[in-house]
Amino acid sequence: MIPLRIKAEAHAAQPFVVRLRSFEGIADIETRANAGAFDVSLESAGAEAAEYVGEGGSVRILGIDPSEVDGDVLLVNPQRGTADRLIRSTSSHNTFLVTERCDQLCVMCSQPPKKHHVDLFGHFEQAAMLAPEGATIGISGGEPTLFKVELFGFLRTVMRTREDLRFHILTNAQHFEENDRANLLELDRKRIVWGIPLYSADPAIHDEIVGKDGAFGKLRSGLAFLGRAGAQIELRTVLMQPNAPGLARLAKYLTTTVPFIQTWAIMQLENIGYARQNWNRLFYDSFSGFEAVGQAIDIARSRGIDVQLFNFPLCTVPGSYRHLAPSTISDWKRAYMDACENCSLRGDCGGFFEWHPQEHGYAGLGGV
Ligand code: SF4
Repeated sequence: MIPLRIKAEAHAAQPFVVRLRSFEGIADIETRANAGAFDVSLESAGAEAAEYVGEGGSVRILGIDPSEVDGDVLLVNPQRGTADRLIRSTSSHNTFLVTERCDQLCVMCSQPPKKHHVDLFGHFEQAAMLAPEGATIGISGGEPTLFKVELFGFLRTVMRTREDLRFHILTNAQHFEENDRANLLELDRKRIVWGIPLYSADPAIHDEIVGKDGAFGKLRSGLAFLGRAGAQIELRTVLMQPNAPGLARLAKYLTTTVPFIQTWAIMQLENIGYARQNWNRLFYDSFSGFEAVGQAIDIARSRGIDVQLFNFPLCTVPGSYRHLAPSTISDWKRAYMDACENCSLRGDCGGFFEWHPQEHGYAGLGGV
């Protein structure tokens, strides 16, 4: 697994953001001269640590080769002796976890919420400004819109300065109000996709899955608000035993109630957090039971809704639907099983989450 947190040492009292420059030829004066205020350049590298120096001071990175972190944007926490790789320059899977607080308690939550919140929006803003040209940055939580004032402020500032950046924001869409319209309309809506979970057309099943009474009704209002504002929406449905039988009904619901969405993503379950605890009653073998998925896809696509299958091992998807299943598992947490070794589909297949059990649960795997 690619490490997102590395060891770091710095003489500073507070956390700070830097971009690493692991230049070839560390004495390159011209390149140094072009470095910005947040850049630190490689000064020396040994077997255990690499020293970087910049305008604002120095930082020592331990346990990782400088070539692997060139261009990365780090949030260095000197007190803890760590640095979070907020942006990995070679990855298209960079996400800012803006809060761990949430107002839902989903049965399969991969990142169980915490009560406390540390406001790092200022650091995220600096990091986004240093992102590579044309990057898409994910915003996740917890529930980011619990801090929508800060979130809108962050988006406004960054998007004004960095017109090349795009954002994908995961939200339960239950905290928008009419007076947020001006904030939303101020942003370039073409550069933001709102990823919004909806698990069932049956309010009781949806509310049960997210652990919050009335969530379905609020979500419906939020979707209508975003639709009226012309926002781009990617609806997300994690496939599980409780909602798989109702997937076709959900497809019909989407085509009549929210036909303005851009994409419907049906997602396989990630074996982590609460999903791991509840695995046996949640995991749905989409190889054995693909009919429920296929039927839902056919309904949605026949009525003009784009459907994608996220996190599905390619060999568990019938050939005629495989073009809908891109490789979606982030590079830093992607792994393959023994059965994948000689697989002809491996180049296009996203495989498994690193933590998926060896007893993978699919009746059919490999053999292609
Ligand atoms: S055998 Fe492995 S690599 Fe091949 S399609 Fe299945 S999961 Fe993907």
